[in-house]
Amino acid sequence: MKLHNAGAEVYVPDGAAVDSALARTTHLAVSAHQDDIEIMAYHGILECFGKPDKGFTGVTVTNGSGSPRDGLYGKYTDEEMQVVRRKEQKKAAIIGEYAAQVFLDYSSSAVKQAAETAVVADLKSLLAACRPQVIYTHNLADKHDTHVATALRIIRALQDLPRERRPQRLYGCEVWRSLDWLNDDDKVIFNVEAHENLAMSLVGVFDSQVAGGKRYDLATMGRRRANATYLASHGVDESTSLIFGIDLTPLIGDQPPSAADYIDGYINRFAQEVAGRIAKLS
Ligand SMILES: [Zn+2]
Repeated sequence: MKLHNAGAEVYVPDGAAVDSALARTTHLAVSAHQDDIEIMAYHGILECFGKPDKGFTGVTVTNGSGSPRDGLYGKYTDEEMQVVRRKEQKKAAIIGEYAAQVFLDYSSSAVKQAAETAVVADLKSLLAACRPQVIYTHNLADKHDTHVATALRIIRALQDLPRERRPQRLYGCEVWRSLDWLNDDDKVIFNVEAHENLAMSLVGVFDSQVAGGKRYDLATMGRRRANATYLASHGVDESTSLIFGIDLTPLIGDQPPSAADYIDGYINRFAQEVAGRIAKLS
């Protein structure tokens, strides 16, 4: 498999050959940055952890050079940060027993250019080698430009595949915006309470981010706990940890709506729900 950037890499934690590692992928996560996978796609990691017939592969599209930094990492150059963040992502791949971890090594600005074709081409090469059943990516209501651009690129790559080669499910997940606001009928609910120790390790291992000034470890566990408790006002908690997602599968079906129209539907249904309650109680 040929990827565009010289710095691109397919890391295989258990040392197997790249082709066979990618071929055993059943669950794939496509993220903008190092650590997004562990925050948004923990459900996929859990689904595959310790299961010989399933394999989780992570894809990180950017090189991670633009991250904020402090403390030990305060004086690191962009180049040094890229090295640190790649090493951290590999540590997560080992902890989570990923089949493979792919680094595409693009700048954020390259990913955000709609006319850029290399990112989509690399994703198509990977999809040909992986053939996953389930894909997790960023949700279209995320507030980080690079996240939304990454979601649009993987949607594009999937739309270009023959129908029979597309995955069964494509999910948009939470990083830079929770999905608590979705109407309950519109939520995909992932119960991720198993292996809480693993969940904490997977986010905590990104020391350059956590010790570097952002407590993603506590915030991510807190969001999952809040999702579980605030899902239903009547009735006891049925899980201690939930991740919410949006089903993006219709965007890779036949005659898909535009991404903008599709997310508009969710926003409009939310607006109607809010307005309807106020009207009912006024
Ligand atoms: Zn990110």
